[in-house]
Amino acid sequence: MADAPRLNVEFLTSAATLAQCPPQAGPEIAFAGRSNAGKSSVLNRLTGSRRTAKVSKSPGRTQLLNFFDVAGGGRLVDLPGYGYARAERAAQAKWQESVNEFLSHRDALAAVVLVMDIRHPLQPFDLELMEWAHPSEMPLLILLNKADKLKRGAQGKVQSSVQKAVADQPLTSVQVFSAMTGQGLPELVAILERWLAG
Ligand code: GDP
Repeated sequence: MADAPRLNVEFLTSAATLAQCPPQAGPEIAFAGRSNAGKSSVLNRLTGSRRTAKVSKSPGRTQLLNFFDVAGGGRLVDLPGYGYARAERAAQAKWQESVNEFLSHRDALAAVVLVMDIRHPLQPFDLELMEWAHPSEMPLLILLNKADKLKRGAQGKVQSSVQKAVADQPLTSVQVFSAMTGQGLPELVAILERWLAG
């Protein structure tokens, strides 16, 4: 796997509000997902470094937007994981405030990667983000992570059903992925490089 494709990134800074975000420089790709969907693992696999998402998971940073410079230009922005419902109402409200602000007003935002657990796709939070992306004309990649938990046939079935759900959204695409095995990594890197190139 020495030549496995990946993105070279370096942690830049964290922000709690839009005003705190660093000055814009090149296209930004945001990563969103429900807690536990595997967003951190996807970022680690993508960058070939466990350090990447460790930054975002360090104490005090889990509720922040974390910015990473990509070698060659552009940035990845790790959005706070969206918590499970019920116990986390207050945290959710806060999530919505900072993230909504970022999604709505960050001009550099070029695309969003939405990480889902392939066994539990299209949860209410996912649908909300998709309902925002479509009218905003924001390119959206749905990453069906943890594919290793399903056989190939079952993976294909979920992919088809999610593709059907977004059939009327031309800027949305659906990829099967496994942070654990690296399945789908070359495809993901290719899509991100295209977006980062503008
Ligand atoms: P986050 O909360 O979305 O950042 O999720 P994490 O990356 O911390 O992952 C949550 C749990 O799912 C951890 O136990 C990971 O090891 C596991 N996980 C993440 N991605 C995969 C995957 O592709 N396959 C499998 N089997 N487990 C995964």
